[in-house]
Amino acid sequence: MPSIFTRILQNELPASFVHRDEVVAAFLDIQPLTPGHTLVVPVREVASLSDLPPEILARVTALGQEIGLAIRATDPSVTGINWLLCDGPDAGQEVPHIHLHVIPRRKGDGLRFGGKGSKTERADLDDWAARIETCLKDQMAK
Ligand code: 5GP
Repeated sequence: MPSIFTRILQNELPASFVHRDEVVAAFLDIQPLTPGHTLVVPVREVASLSDLPPEILARVTALGQEIGLAIRATDPSVTGINWLLCDGPDAGQEVPHIHLHVIPRRKGDGLRFGGKGSKTERADLDDWAARIETCLKDQMAK
């Protein structure tokens, strides 16, 4: 049974993409911890970090870095970024398709890890995705 992220990557389920190529993709988390919360996902479905080839991990982290830059460029209120990667159910991993969370932080946002984000309208996710995607394309073209 393919993971929910594989189903998104195969266009069976909707998502608000900011980037996709043959190795990595990124889309907005459906329950963002903060506005702009983005997931970076290898196209190859592996549950555990241990099974991800290092060269693909490098692509995931490089895209995570670019997305952090793009989020900061599109929203000056973002003054920090958290990365989160949960490897295994005991580490809090819910979707068994390894992924990197890129979580924008704003002064006084009050985020405490361990909670759940709130379900967000697709239009809001699409709006964020479009803004990040625009900055990302500019950056990656340089
Ligand atoms: P994990 O706990 O596995 O590190 O994180 C899974 C993340 O995937 C959660 O933040 C959750 O909100 C997000 N998520 C779960 N299902 C979907 C979905 O169908 N679409 C999107 N865009 N995100 C999802």
